[in-house]
Amino acid sequence: MSSPTLLLRLVCLLLVAIALGGCRSEPRSVEDAAAARPYPLLLISIDGFRHDYFDLADTPALDRLVAGGLKADSLHHAFPTKTFPTHYTLVTGRYPGTHGVVANSMWDPLRDQRFSLGNRDAVGDGYWYQGGEPIWVTAERQGLTAATFFWPGSEARIHRIRPTYWKPYAGETPHAERIDQVLDWLDLPEDSRPDLITLYFSTVDSMGHRHGPRADPVRDAVIDVDSHLDRLLNGLEERELLDSMHIIVVSDHGMSRVDFDQYIMLDEYLDLSRVIVSDWGPAAQIWATDMSAEEIFQALDGAHPRMRVWLRDDIPERYRFGSHHRVPDVLAEADLEWMISNRPYMAGRSRFSLLGMHGWDPALAEMHGMLLIHGPSFAAGSQAPAVRSVDLYALMNHLLALQPAPHEGSLSPFSPYLDAADAITVDTLELICGQQRDTRIKLRRGPRHLAVHDGLHIHVLDQSDPNGLLYAEAGLEVDMRNEPFTVRIDAEVWEDCLPGGSS
Ligand SMILES: [Zn+2]
Repeated sequence: MSSPTLLLRLVCLLLVAIALGGCRSEPRSVEDAAAARPYPLLLISIDGFRHDYFDLADTPALDRLVAGGLKADSLHHAFPTKTFPTHYTLVTGRYPGTHGVVANSMWDPLRDQRFSLGNRDAVGDGYWYQGGEPIWVTAERQGLTAATFFWPGSEARIHRIRPTYWKPYAGETPHAERIDQVLDWLDLPEDSRPDLITLYFSTVDSMGHRHGPRADPVRDAVIDVDSHLDRLLNGLEERELLDSMHIIVVSDHGMSRVDFDQYIMLDEYLDLSRVIVSDWGPAAQIWATDMSAEEIFQALDGAHPRMRVWLRDDIPERYRFGSHHRVPDVLAEADLEWMISNRPYMAGRSRFSLLGMHGWDPALAEMHGMLLIHGPSFAAGSQAPAVRSVDLYALMNHLLALQPAPHEGSLSPFSPYLDAADAITVDTLELICGQQRDTRIKLRRGPRHLAVHDGLHIHVLDQSDPNGLLYAEAGLEVDMRNEPFTVRIDAEVWEDCLPGGSS
């Protein structure tokens, strides 16, 4: 290699290293192009796959990804834990209160328009998504090629860009057809092959809604999706791609049981003709129209023991649900397994029409999804504590050597895993807190972040000191610099926590 060529290649590699992704558009030779191009990245979503579904059935394909890569205990989503908001957070690294997809059903006060999943015009209208830049737009902007076999937002032109290959959503599309298409895309010639592919399955979620979490039809849906993933992995192996691409498998939320006798009827407390309620269910998004936000709050505050209500500015800090103009004036949230609805709607419902739901506080363990990562940057057998979904955009940008758009996540929890020589595992520390020594808190600690398990909840906190003794996140803190340790979760503070065992 002559020195000018060597210099060119070094400059090119340097450009990639600083994540400008600028080499691919003007390769000097086939060899250089191959050197500069990132490994393909396949992002798979299994809608509604709760983090504890791995033990429901034999899942050889998922097990293969677990054994060969990184498995997180769970995936902590953003509020509300609903399909469109959480999927859009996954691909933009922004919270719903920033990217603006604040629910599956939304009202936009500036346009005086509604968005719902059944409204095809709205779903395909980029206006609703422009508060964030999805990874496929970031990729296309920087000269890579993106393909989406379904993903919320992928049907719309966002910032005037669509994926090179995309499909209008058709839920009945057979799983086999989806797998075939992904393999066909990967078989395309170098100059048209996608660098980023998304793939989506909805059946685990729909069975969870219909029959409740962990019911037999949910298990059957998990087995079915796994069998298709098995064919996908075999196809990748035949192409010698399995170990030279990255595969990230996520789900967008968990699932909780709901009970027909646990509905809170909002119209018992509020004249619904004087407000707009843009979303119902685990949480209601309420707009002041003919009465003030304060009047709505007064009408609902303390109205039902299973419901909490907040004015927009008072929503718990760790929900990070506050700034976008589609965030409602008043938010009411029911307890887990409880729903908010109204009498006219429920009059037409049968007792067994809905047995599972999601949408509550993202810290609730039952709302946590799953995360697996497989590929050359991750050592086989790696483990992580619960991870925040908002951090995956930064990781995907890193893996694709892209310059990320402004986002609210961080690469930091993943950094120690990247190209680590050996598997990284998680240590567990149990704390015993409280005057009666009756509060048990389990800490799952990774190299740069920590998850706090306190009964019903799993919180994720970033390491904020060099020694791994202080961790923080909005509304949360774990301080282990001096014994006894201090744990703060929202307004609750334990200052007397002592280690009760570790492993
Ligand atoms: Zn979903």
